[in-house]
Amino acid sequence: MTNLEDIYYLDGKIPINLIREPFCLKCMNQVEKGLTLCSSCSSLLDRVKEWYFNKVKALGIHNAYLIGNYKVPINILSELISLLKFKKGEIFKKYAGKLLADGLFHIFVQNIDLFKNTAYITIPPKFSRGEKNQCLYIVNPFLKKLKKLGFKLVNIIEKTTKVKDTGKNKDKKLEERFNDIKGTHQIEVKDLHGKNVLIVDDIFTVGSTVWDLSRALKEVNAGEINILVAGRHILFDKWPVPDLMSSKELKFDYLIIYFSKLDIDRDYRKVRNVKLKTLRMGDHETIVSVIAGSGQEYNLSIDLKNRIIKHDCLNYINKRKKSKKFCKHITKAFLDIKEEFRKQYATNILKSMYLHLDEWEFESN
Ligand SMILES: [Zn+2]
Ligand SMILES: [Zn+2]
Repeated sequence: MTNLEDIYYLDGKIPINLIREPFCLKCMNQVEKGLTLCSSCSSLLDRVKEWYFNKVKALGIHNAYLIGNYKVPINILSELISLLKFKKGEIFKKYAGKLLADGLFHIFVQNIDLFKNTAYITIPPKFSRGEKNQCLYIVNPFLKKLKKLGFKLVNIIEKTTKVKDTGKNKDKKLEERFNDIKGTHQIEVKDLHGKNVLIVDDIFTVGSTVWDLSRALKEVNAGEINILVAGRHILFDKWPVPDLMSSKELKFDYLIIYFSKLDIDRDYRKVRNVKLKTLRMGDHETIVSVIAGSGQEYNLSIDLKNRIIKHDCLNYINKRKKSKKFCKHITKAFLDIKEEFRKQYATNILKSMYLHLDEWEFESN
């Protein structure tokens, strides 16, 4: 079952899928129908004993799936989180952070009973003080929105520290993650007087970071601690991701934002200025186009039957091909297909690509 409430438009324009039931009431992990807690919340590791926090509220599902050894974000939300985390340059981080802040604000308001008595706000700190914390790009615009609503949260980010480097979590086993992080957080405030604290984070995976951070907060007398995250990391072992989206929800706008890595919103002028010299269809099985570039022409061919896309610009070859994404030329070709043929036809091609992404080959000619 799906309804419109499963989709939220970040800043009124970027659609993302909210996590739908059934999910764990503690951490929003997926559960079987009828269950209220996931297996890791119903039987905590010996090491964990207690979560220390009350609830996790997440904006959407985060994951990437592997093509070779390259990670492809599975949806628009994951794409935004990867812009925030990995893309160099303030401009991208600010762009992603602002959109994610709008999403978290939506979740805050949706769960106002849970969050209304929040007195303090913080984020998981970096060990190195010199490294800018990517969560700040979310928290700063998020706090502005809260302020407009009349909430005055005391920001204790500067007083939240990590006293030991725990390295990358990526290849660690579950038990190891909790072992390594235990006791590494410290709150440089004497007493939080039993008042509620909100932790904002970009991704919740197994929860080891917020677990230890919550422990540290409790040591200085924190009241109820709740977590607000952009992405609830949920594992999928095969493509397409089950229940991520019904195919009815896969609209042209959603798909073109996804495949263009948000270029179409972020840099629409660049896309619009691309000129297709020719655009031909053969028997509904192939689409061929010649695209005018600066100084040279580019070719694009889409073989719908064999699921092969071929193109030859440098941005596509170096940056987009490996993650099965479009450059501005391919994005513009789809906008033109939508204009010149039927919108449904363009949507159906994109839908087929998204749902069978594991089978589509992105090649250079
Ligand atoms: Zn859980
Ligand atoms: Zn291109």
